[in-house]
Amino acid sequence: MTDTAPRPAVMSDESPTTDVRRIGPAFRTSHPLASGPVVQPAPTVDGFVETFLGELNYGQGTLLSQSTVNDQYLALARTVRRYLMADWLETGTRRRQTQQKTVGYLSAEYLLGRQLGNNLLATNLQDIAQVAMERCGIDIATLRAQEVEPGLGNGGLGRLAACFVDSLATMDVPCIGYGIRYEYGIFRQTFEADRQVEVPDSWLSLGNPWEFPHPERQVLVSFGGSTETTTDADGRERCTWTPDWQVIGMPYHYMVPGHRNGVVNTLRLWSARATQAFDLQIFNSGDYAQAVRAQTTAENISKVLYPEDSTPQGKELRLQQQYFFVACSLHDFIDNTLPADFDLRRLHQRIIFQLNDTHPVIAIPELMRILVDRKGFAWDEAWEITQKCFAYTCHTLLPEALEVWSAELLGRLLPRHLEIIYRINEEFLEEVREAHPGDEMLVRRMSIIAEHPERAVRMAYLATVAASKVNGVAELHSQLLRDKVLPDFSRLWPEKFTNVTNGVTPRRFVRLANRRLSDLLTETIGDGWVTDLDRLRELEPYADDAGFREQFRAVKQANKERLTTLLRVRDGLELPPEAMLDVMVKRLHEYKRQTLKLLHIVSLYDDVVSGRVPAEQVTPRTFVFGAKAAPGYHLAKEIIFLINAVADVVNADPAVAGRLSVAFPANYNVTLAEKLIPAADLSEQISLAGKEASGTGNMKFALNGALTIGTDDGANVEIRRLVGDEHFFLFGMTEPEVEELTARGYTPSAVYESDPQLRSTIDLLASGHFTGGDRQAVAPVVDNLLHQDSFMVLADFRAYLDAQARVDAAYADPDAWSRSAILNVARSGYFSSDRSMRDYLERIWHA
Ligand SMILES: *Cc1c(COP(=O)(O)O)cnc(C)c1O
Repeated sequence: MTDTAPRPAVMSDESPTTDVRRIGPAFRTSHPLASGPVVQPAPTVDGFVETFLGELNYGQGTLLSQSTVNDQYLALARTVRRYLMADWLETGTRRRQTQQKTVGYLSAEYLLGRQLGNNLLATNLQDIAQVAMERCGIDIATLRAQEVEPGLGNGGLGRLAACFVDSLATMDVPCIGYGIRYEYGIFRQTFEADRQVEVPDSWLSLGNPWEFPHPERQVLVSFGGSTETTTDADGRERCTWTPDWQVIGMPYHYMVPGHRNGVVNTLRLWSARATQAFDLQIFNSGDYAQAVRAQTTAENISKVLYPEDSTPQGKELRLQQQYFFVACSLHDFIDNTLPADFDLRRLHQRIIFQLNDTHPVIAIPELMRILVDRKGFAWDEAWEITQKCFAYTCHTLLPEALEVWSAELLGRLLPRHLEIIYRINEEFLEEVREAHPGDEMLVRRMSIIAEHPERAVRMAYLATVAASKVNGVAELHSQLLRDKVLPDFSRLWPEKFTNVTNGVTPRRFVRLANRRLSDLLTETIGDGWVTDLDRLRELEPYADDAGFREQFRAVKQANKERLTTLLRVRDGLELPPEAMLDVMVKRLHEYKRQTLKLLHIVSLYDDVVSGRVPAEQVTPRTFVFGAKAAPGYHLAKEIIFLINAVADVVNADPAVAGRLSVAFPANYNVTLAEKLIPAADLSEQISLAGKEASGTGNMKFALNGALTIGTDDGANVEIRRLVGDEHFFLFGMTEPEVEELTARGYTPSAVYESDPQLRSTIDLLASGHFTGGDRQAVAPVVDNLLHQDSFMVLADFRAYLDAQARVDAAYADPDAWSRSAILNVARSGYFSSDRSMRDYLERIWHA
């Protein structure tokens, strides 16, 4: 980058002349409509058609007769947008006027899913829009299918953020969701010769009607350079950071509508821009690549989402992304949201920044820098303020997933922040020494700075030291967090640690995804459940009503048929619509144990082809997988290959025709989840106990009437407790048993030797039966299972097969199964993200 950072193209209010184009808030007018929105007339079909055609003609610049599906989709989206706009503007005005505390949700990921359907639901325009489109000769489903979902997240963590902002809007809690507007979201997965191939997700290429750029709120972010400490006139030490280079953060606003309550909150996602588009002198000299180099470097920051899930990426660009978005967000709130004369000693009364995992933790030294270097606070006072303004959510138990940044890199990119972190650490370690004199081992263990293998900053420790509260995401996880991940910290500050069990939004994952079930629920218990999910309890008596069970089964069957049709059209898969639908969808990760599911399938197939079990005795099942693997996670990609290879052979073998089929539709995302989950009979939640922090997929399934087969892990524990043991298929080692086996020494090959069925299953896999005789192709997975098996798949194999036999037996009694499924729905209201938000408000935010 250039040494002399060019002045950014930001027009501030201090612009000395009037002939510059002003971006800042420049005009005031006394027009009667100046301070309130023009309200869209109450929706009617006629009005909707007229607005839609107007958007098509005047917004898209085309005629209905000439328009493409994309034109129509964009015009429909802009029509729906109009019905939200007045509420959005009014919510903004109301939020500015009241002095209520705001939740600043800081998350590097938001896995939003499609917007059109959700916004039609929020505005209660679904039916009007459908009829209006029919009048125009348009099938609204085709337009919905045109939307590319914003895949600005990897999986559970990003989807959680999306559920949380939905709930806060529905509860009318002031919230700004802060994140990154990645130009390319999570890659699109395709399969070639059964192997995952990643295709860039250019989700913005056909236009995005849901975002609003706000150049008047852009922010300048600095990187690199050096710091200098001087003493000012009052004898106080002042630090100045002279950065090397800067980028502009351009905010894009997204509507976050509450459910039919007139509230629309804001999601503010940052896009990186160069301070200067290009260097005209260099351009004129003919070196075009050099002329745009600075621009490319700057804009790379928000170019692409790192496709890693549960494993951190220690890359410089990743750190740039993290600092970029939190620096923009803090600046946005302190300088552009609070009144200019706001007394920052009261900052915590107006904001709580919730750190969604460690990705935004660099916000802590950034706030210290703002307070001390820019606003002139003394260190201690700044620290007091900072501690009250942050809370931290930990999302993992895997030690390898805890983010650590090398001090060398951090110091090079953010020299002032590294100094601040060192000082925070010094003062913290003093506190530890005072509490535990003479225990230097403890001091070293708790230090925010690790010294080996290189000097590095432990971001989870920094978050824990600074945050007012630290929470895990399910009861078991929070307990293990206290006992295993951060035991020294929980002993020092027991009151700092708390739990908030995750949840999912019932709007998207029940009402929108499962219209048939929703209509049945509403007919039966009224529609209050959509915003008060505990009301599902009222369904319990209907579990014993044969007529209701019949209706419930009809809903499930119709959902299965919808899915079968979709997978035929989308993936060319031919699936029997009557079989039990056994679904495992989530990121591909060893700890989640997709291989255990695969071994189950192979063992069933093996039973039949070896003649041990007559095909007629096998419960017809369709196994569905959905999973993306991080592109650099080689073993995960081998597992994907093997699932596809097994699917090919099982689906083509007449010996199991009509009994076993395996589907692995590519590109599992929110849109596909909305189709798959409502159709599922069985939910696979089979992680090794003590490894899955919570899971939220498990909640979506239970709420849609699937029964769970699962380990005692994450939120499975709470699901089982609530729905009841008889309605949940528990298997496998508990977390203490896993610990004990680890301590004893686990030898997977010994398990293999001792269980003939496991041996036969693995031998069939290893023989190359599923890979055209190619034994090499299966070796990476098979060898790993036999010689390493870090997540104890073989150790839980027997228990898993036994539990699956119980599943078969239960499924043979449709009435008992439906009863259990209904009770799963009725007793899962606790897993609404509305409840999670209430818990955050009560235990952490006090907003
Ligand atoms: C809910 C969801 C997840 C999280 O699933 P888990 O089973 O909890 O890991 C991941 N991806 C998508 C698309 C989801 O909707």
